Amino acid sequence: MESLGVLLTVPMNTYLEEELDRRFKLFRLWETTPERRAEYLKANSGAIRAVVGNAHIGADASMIEALPALEIVASFSVGLDKVDLDKCRERGIRVTNTPDVLTEDVADLAIGLAIAVLRRIPAADRYVRGGNWLKKGDIKLSTRFSGKTVGIIGLGRIGLAIARRAEAFGCPICYYSRSKKSYPNYKCCSSVLDLAANCDVLVVACPLTEETRHIVNREVIDTLGPKGVLINIGRGPHVDEPELVSALLEGRLGGAGLDVFEKEPYVPEQLFELENVALVPHIGSGTWETRKDMADLVLGNLEAHVMKKPLLTPVV
Ligand code: NAP
Repeated sequence: MESLGVLLTVPMNTYLEEELDRRFKLFRLWETTPERRAEYLKANSGAIRAVVGNAHIGADASMIEALPALEIVASFSVGLDKVDLDKCRERGIRVTNTPDVLTEDVADLAIGLAIAVLRRIPAADRYVRGGNWLKKGDIKLSTRFSGKTVGIIGLGRIGLAIARRAEAFGCPICYYSRSKKSYPNYKCCSSVLDLAANCDVLVVACPLTEETRHIVNREVIDTLGPKGVLINIGRGPHVDEPELVSALLEGRLGGAGLDVFEKEPYVPEQLFELENVALVPHIGSGTWETRKDMADLVLGNLEAHVMKKPLLTPVV
């Protein structure tokens, strides 16, 4: 195998890192300090022909500009909001991601969060651990998930997998996407506001773009209302987080299940004490099985690139 210089932006998966090290010439961006990053990239710019990033650090304009020999960005994620796609197109740099292999896990988590919020599982768990069952007796009643109308923003791979699961719970499905889909049982809504007005549980499952940044704003939150629940397994900036926090604190929104946040790993502390929220640290694709499959896709794309074969999951 030709020795491809690969820059890994953050430690993301041990198997991936070991295999990149074994098959290619690996550069680890975190071996330098943020202050010396530009110097590090300049010193290795002749050798680095590939970047492997993830949902946290991808390949932004400044990184791409610093790497004149860059040929491919192989992202360890399906979302490409941390990759400057326009710059890649301009420079003829190929881009790949890891679709499909993570769909089931992310959809499982979305349903898990919806049930966790409505049935108050995190709060009930804290109740038991805190000895309150013994001291105070039974906990307050919660709300049923089965049969609730689920509204999905972005009926793509993950959105559809969420819809299929929710259907099994007897939930009517409605959605808002760029294009109308041919699922006769699913109601297509004309806007996010229309969707929020028609569902009990609103799930964000679209990519983060300039169009979808803050797609869940105060108006959408208020339309979802005090009995509505927001689930975000997309990206943090899909939701106006300060508005979400105040709606939850003021009781204008019924609850929220969040895997992603606007400024990860920072999570607004006002949410910590609330019983109607479930908070997890961006674990949508975080299972051994899926991360191994994602790593194999990254490696397969890099190998295909070196061998001048068709890329497995090309985006650009
Ligand atoms: P996908 O198959 O491309 O589906 C995205 C869907 O969003 C498509 O149906 C698309 O509509 C719709 N969409 C795009 N722009 C829109 C807009 N402006 N308004 C409304 N809908 C819009 O992608 P996927 O594989 O399902 O992944 C979706 C996203 O989930 C990723 O981009 C990523 O950010 C996020 N994700 C999160 C995690 C996690 O760990 N939490 C893991 C994986 C992915 P059309 O079908 O009409 O084009």
